[in-house]
Formats: sequence, structure tokens, C-alpha cells
Amino acid sequence: MNTLTLSAPAKINYLLDVTGKRPDGYHTLRMIMQRVNLCDEITISLTDNPGITVSCSSKGVPNGSDNIAWKAARTLLDHARSEIGVNIEISKNIPVAAGLGGGSSDAATVLMGLNELLQLSLTDQTLMEIGCTLGADVPFFIFKHTALAEGIGEKLTRLPDMPKCWILLVNPGVHVSTAWVYRSLQLTNRGDLNRMPQLFESIEQIVSVLSNDLESVTIPAFPVIADIKSRLKNLGAIGTLMSGSGPTVFGMFKSFEAAEIARQDVSKDTDWFTVTVETLI
Ligand code: ATP
Repeated sequence: MNTLTLSAPAKINYLLDVTGKRPDGYHTLRMIMQRVNLCDEITISLTDNPGITVSCSSKGVPNGSDNIAWKAARTLLDHARSEIGVNIEISKNIPVAAGLGGGSSDAATVLMGLNELLQLSLTDQTLMEIGCTLGADVPFFIFKHTALAEGIGEKLTRLPDMPKCWILLVNPGVHVSTAWVYRSLQLTNRGDLNRMPQLFESIEQIVSVLSNDLESVTIPAFPVIADIKSRLKNLGAIGTLMSGSGPTVFGMFKSFEAAEIARQDVSKDTDWFTVTVETLI
């Protein structure tokens, strides 16, 4: 076997608390993250010509060594001391710079795919450690479970399986720089860090934790984010939140039909990216 095609899913955050800032500048976080079935498709091929190529036809995604998938392949080949050639093709379905973790998921998928193709038998733990050097969200996509993420995002605890839920993703397409969001954030002394329930047995329990500190930066600068939240609520969403550093907003629905009715309503007078997806356990 020298070619593998894998799906790289997006994620949403039900909770994103910024708990502090480390001396090296990284923020410490407390997040609840779940994968959803909106996926990039990654085809990885081994070749006898040394070097790594990455091609992706989507706007805003770099080809070659600036692509995080390239960095993932380089790091794994160095770890394995392999000089084999690798070609990677990315078919992008996850909106770029959207708060949905697309680049991190692509990188995680390349690490897992090359581990298999090269028969390296590296454990998930080792792949997660390698992934963390590429980006704080990369280990989560190797972990493959709904998780509480702490530290800079790399300390993962599996959460009990949550009830299935339909998620409407709405991305208004405004450009939000993740670096700008964290730079602009005012850290406060939070007193409510213990509000997390022990179990997530109902969608209502998930809704009760919905909170994203980064909205305090993005909503004043991009009021469209608050507009989408209130529109989705009016259209029957049980809960709504901005995912990651935005600008994607998600609405939670108990049925596909309810989410689709809301999606069609939003699409009728906007050109925003909208899709109804299902949560992955
Ligand atoms: P983050 O919060 O880390 O910015 P995100 O989910 O909001 O993550 P991504 O879609 O991962 O955003 O893209 C962030 C940036 O990374 C983009 O501006 C893009 O130019 C760059 N990038 C590099 N490789 C990729 C990739 N494979 N897919 C998407 N973006 C990539």
C-alpha cells in the first residue's frame, strides 16, 4: 500500500475559557471540544522521489512548505529518519481560518496516515506529542474523542459520550486573525471555573456550559457574530456559540429537519457559508 485517502473532520468548541497566560506568551485554556462530520479529504502517496509536495486548490490555503500538512509530513519523516518522498493532496471542505480547526485536523490526519503507510507503529501518545509541536489543537484530532482540553490545549481528558446533536454552522466570511484575538483579549480573574457538569446526558446539559471568552473580543469588532447568534436562536436553536476564535457560529438542534429549516432561512438572504452537520462521538 502506498496511497491512503482519509477524512479530516472539523471541530467545534462548547466551552473556551482563557485561564491565563504563560511566560512564553501562550494562553492557557480550558475547552470542551467535539468533532463534527464536515471533513477535508486528504490523499497521501509515497513516492521514490524524495521531498514533500502539498497541493490544495482552495483560496487562502498555502501550497508547499507553508501548509501545516507539509510541516506534519516533514516532522514525521524526520522522526522516522525516512527519506521517502510524500505527495499530499488536500480537498478542502472546512472553511479556512474559521475557528473550526481545519489546518490542525489536516496535520493530525497526515501524522496518522503516514504512521500507517510507513508502518511505524507509533502510539497515539507519541503522535499527539509530535502533533503538539505543530499546533495546540493537533493532539485533539489524534485523540479522536470529545474532550476537555487544558494546558494550551494539549492536556486531554475524554468526556462521556454526549447525545447526538445536529449542528448548523454559519460562517459570515469576515476575516478574523487568531493572533489578533488573543492579543486583544483582556484576561479577567474568573470566579466561575467550576460550573462544568460531571455528565453530559442531555443536549440541555451541553447548552448549559456554552461559553467562549473570545467572543468578548470578536463580537464588538464583528457584530455580525452576535446577529447570527440571535438569528439562530429565533430560528429555534437550543444553544448558539462562536467556535474557537471565530468567526463561525454554530447553532444546536435536536433534529436534522429543524437545523435545515434554519439553514435555508439564513441562506435565502445571505451568501454566508452554511452547512448542517452531525456531531461525532
Ligand atoms: P486557528 O484557530 O489555529 O487559526 P482555524 O481553524 O481558525 O485555526 P485554519 O483553517 O486551520 O484556521 O487556518 C489557519 C491559517 O493556517 C490559514 O490562514 C491558512 O493560511 C493556514 N493554513 C496552513 N495550512 C492549512 C491547511 N491545511 N488548511 C487550512 N489552513 C491552512
